[in-house]
Amino acid sequence: MSDTSRPIPVPLVFDAPKRGLPPKHLVDLEPAERRAAVAELGLPGFRADQVARHYFSRLEADAEEMTDLPAAARTAVGEKLLPTLLTEMRRITCDAGETQKTLWRAHDGTLLESVLMRYPDRATLCISSQAGCGMACPFCATGQQGLTRNLSTAEIVDQVRSAAATMRDGDLPGGPGRLSNIVFMGMGEPLANYKRVVTAVRRMTEPAPHGLGLSQRAVTVSTVGLAPAIRRLADEKMSVRLAVSLHTPDDELRDTLVPVNNRWSVAEVLSAARYYADTSGRRVSIEYALIRDVNDQPWRATMLGKKLRKALGQMVHVNLIPLNPTPGSQWDASPKDVEAEFVRLVRAEGVACTVRDTRGQEIAAACGQLAAQG
Ligand code: SAH
Repeated sequence: MSDTSRPIPVPLVFDAPKRGLPPKHLVDLEPAERRAAVAELGLPGFRADQVARHYFSRLEADAEEMTDLPAAARTAVGEKLLPTLLTEMRRITCDAGETQKTLWRAHDGTLLESVLMRYPDRATLCISSQAGCGMACPFCATGQQGLTRNLSTAEIVDQVRSAAATMRDGDLPGGPGRLSNIVFMGMGEPLANYKRVVTAVRRMTEPAPHGLGLSQRAVTVSTVGLAPAIRRLADEKMSVRLAVSLHTPDDELRDTLVPVNNRWSVAEVLSAARYYADTSGRRVSIEYALIRDVNDQPWRATMLGKKLRKALGQMVHVNLIPLNPTPGSQWDASPKDVEAEFVRLVRAEGVACTVRDTRGQEIAAACGQLAAQG
């Protein structure tokens, strides 16, 4: 960027260089491109549709298992359309087995994580969109490690395919079930990897055999507030839920908690959120990590309620997240009575507000703890 006086680099482009991206995978390709790829192997185009059906409908990613492909073609098809993207390094569980974190290694050694959470009425997967993150929020573990690289569309979707298979196969306590919800709340800033994330959402939500058949309404894209990208996402006319990590209603503090605020202020972010709500017809979620003596004052609760009411009317819901302290941080969660008062004051302004339950705490899988140290 040209203004070098700012202490923290703020990315002005949405798509970082292609450094380190894995080989193309069928999920990265449109159906016609997949057919062209198998044609290069001298195979008829319908073989590509067969492979897609295995991947999206049967959640199978290993060509050697695809016995309806001619044996001689399996290896070639596998290399062409199904290169191994994510290798499972570790799986750890907590919350009586109902929360499961998976550590993945990508083809170039990059590490990333996803977290599967089973609830009585749904199963939610928290996925990563980048390895590391360039947004530098000081309270977030991933923010501390910087950006390694963007994930490819297929690397994003493969996290979902794997979790969908885990649910189908009953590999979490509670027996077989269905993966229902996706939240882009793992590592990375999804709107800084814009095109790949949007394509990934389409692949997750297109009906089989072209996609995984999840509901767009059950997908949440969480952002630090890249205002132009929020507007661009609205114009995609998808019905995904937007979550905005606000964390404080005033620019002075937000400039430090969410450094990209130096580029797009609270007012600009809320205006973009309003555009998203108007265009999609969906309520926007506002995320607010409550940090003791930092952003938990009664006056901030009231200011938050007033600003949200003015900018978004009824089209907003506040999700308070008790801060998960990251290693070495001096910050802590707010006491429960302070939290309760904060909720009361936001609601007093006519804005819906709830406290998020925090799963995965003892396996470093709770909000903001994903940093893939191994
Ligand atoms: N880059 C996206 C997704 C990040 S993670 C975004 O910022 O929205 C999803 C949420 O967890 C964000 O609201 C993020 O600010 C929050 N978060 C990060 N670190 C946290 C921590 N230590 N405690 C609680 N919430 C945290």
